[in-house]
Amino acid sequence: MSEVLVLVDEIDGEAKKVTFELLTAARELGEPSAVVVAAPGTAARLKDSLAAYGAAKVYVAESDDVPNYLVTPKVDVLAALVGAAAPAAVLVPATAEGKEIAGRLAVRTDSGLLVEAVGVATEDGAVVGTQSIFGGAFTVKAKATRGTPIVTVRPGGVDAVEAAGAAVEETVEVPAADAARATAVTGREPVVGGDRPELTEASIVVSGGRGVGSAEKFEVVEKLADVLGAAVGASRAAVDSGYYPAQFQVGQTGKTVSPQLYVALGISGAIQHRAGMQTSKTIVAVNKDAEAPIFEIADFGVVGDLFAVAPQLTDEVAKRKG
Ligand SMILES: Cc1cc2nc3c(=O)[nH]c(=O)nc-3n(C[C@H](O)[C@H](O)[C@H](O)COP(=O)(O)OP(=O)(O)OC[C@H]3O[C@@H](n4cnc5c(N)ncnc54)[C@H](O)[C@@H]3O)c2cc1C
Repeated sequence: MSEVLVLVDEIDGEAKKVTFELLTAARELGEPSAVVVAAPGTAARLKDSLAAYGAAKVYVAESDDVPNYLVTPKVDVLAALVGAAAPAAVLVPATAEGKEIAGRLAVRTDSGLLVEAVGVATEDGAVVGTQSIFGGAFTVKAKATRGTPIVTVRPGGVDAVEAAGAAVEETVEVPAADAARATAVTGREPVVGGDRPELTEASIVVSGGRGVGSAEKFEVVEKLADVLGAAVGASRAAVDSGYYPAQFQVGQTGKTVSPQLYVALGISGAIQHRAGMQTSKTIVAVNKDAEAPIFEIADFGVVGDLFAVAPQLTDEVAKRKG
């Protein structure tokens, strides 16, 4: 069976959910090989969880250099493995970092790039990616016509399913970074947002729009998010109005999310917002305008004032949690 490379996304030696989704997707195409490009000691901590989601092999590319540079070491290692292992495909998370890695890798290896896939399959011997495009209005299939298909897979696009894998380790050398050309990390600052889950990883997202009215009033969104254990998102209008930081923007020019539950508070549902959340499994919208387009895609809708509805919802969830 052909090998399929999966770039592992991890933080502090813990795999992110998207890694398990990618390993699950890779099993549709062949035998998943997890690629860990990280600081020394990381792969050992990840091995059990990678094995639990079907990694037949784990390429261990560890070096003290890796955390000190942006995408370059990951591109270098993947490019070397594409040459050495001739995989059927390379799957990379469709995160900001993953997209940059995938683009560079496609250029380096002269390969086709499929972006933001929500599913992969083999059809007539070719790797085919399913994409949800034009704000989710169309679902299309695409395949690469040259090289090794490099596929970015949207977080939440595929459900992670466990399957035992051998996770046989193979050490891979990380090429020394060319300091003159690679982007070095010069400092780190903790992410604003405290203990909330990361937006693209969260299984519940509560987002606020311009209807929230001010930065101070965004507290109503945060309170509902916290009682649900959710991440907080925002529309571009809310971000542009200074209600919430840009890193939380959901949509075409923000983050793409695909949680189990997406709650939209005071968001009209413009196509550019929908593009970033339309594949959420269940969508709940609260909007005082019954004609708001968000209701076209909502599974549950409340026509009402979010400042009356959201606090009641928060209290009710808190009560049920006991
Ligand atoms: C190239 C391009 C890229 C873009 N990228 C993005 C993107 O990534 N993400 C994004 O979100 N947008 C994006 N936009 C902007 C997008 O077109 C919309 O302008 C934006 O999504 C609107 O945000 P909103 O729904 O919060 O605001 P509005 O459209 O102003 O809607 C506010 C809603 O709140 C409701 N409301 C008001 N008060 C209350 C209340 N008290 N209770 C309940 N409901 C209330 C109103 O009825 C209204 O429906 C982009 C636009 C362009 C041109």
